[in-house]
Amino acid sequence: MTRIRDDLGEIQARVANALTAASRDGEKVIVLAVSKQQSADAIEAARQAGQRHFGENYVQDALAKMDRLTGLDIEWHFIGRIQSNKTRPIAERFGWVHTVDRARIALRLNEHRPASLPPLRVFIQVNQAGESQKAGIDPTGVETLARLIHAQPRLKLAGLMTLPPAADPPDGNAVYFHRLRELLERLRARGIEMDSLSMGMSADFETAIACGSTCVRIGTAIFGSRRDNPG
Ligand SMILES: *Cc1c(COP(=O)(O)O)cnc(C)c1O
Repeated sequence: MTRIRDDLGEIQARVANALTAASRDGEKVIVLAVSKQQSADAIEAARQAGQRHFGENYVQDALAKMDRLTGLDIEWHFIGRIQSNKTRPIAERFGWVHTVDRARIALRLNEHRPASLPPLRVFIQVNQAGESQKAGIDPTGVETLARLIHAQPRLKLAGLMTLPPAADPPDGNAVYFHRLRELLERLRARGIEMDSLSMGMSADFETAIACGSTCVRIGTAIFGSRRDNPG
């Protein structure tokens, strides 16, 4: 598990360097440790090394790990595909959701978010390349969904998220990262409050930071291959 500590240290250094290279010194980028298919022990080791934000894709797996790790002061992010029958546990147990892509899901998350918790922070997942196998809303639909989310008292619109085609990372996705940032700026100019961009993964997070990312989602570069750690 010392490998996790070393890997986290290296990621933090690379994030800092990428910020400097982009003349973004002093700005904050959340490093989200994507712990899908990783054990609760691996998450605990990362937490002990100072990592606080963790991302999970599968609700049942995530709940089991949360139950084992109570009391660790972890911020849990849901980054998987959302089935409408899973909105209650997501709204009750996570602090952030990166993959909201339709009104029905937003409304259900709002309905299920307990009044005792702060509003659920949500990103709209944008499907920029029209990939039918991927989730995400078409860019033309983002403004309407953003306004709907803004009107929900139990939701807080953080910003936009994308999972671009893995076209020759690290640079191949720069065009999608640029476009997501432009979309964010355009909607802000139209009066929609949001300030976050969830973009960049292990293979291309430095490119994403150069394009304005404020949250990078990193799995294998922190925990190693998921195939080595089944379940
Ligand atoms: C798995 C996953 C990641 C992390 O991918 P790595 O290449 O392992 O860094 C990031 N975002 C989403 C939505 C994922 O499903």
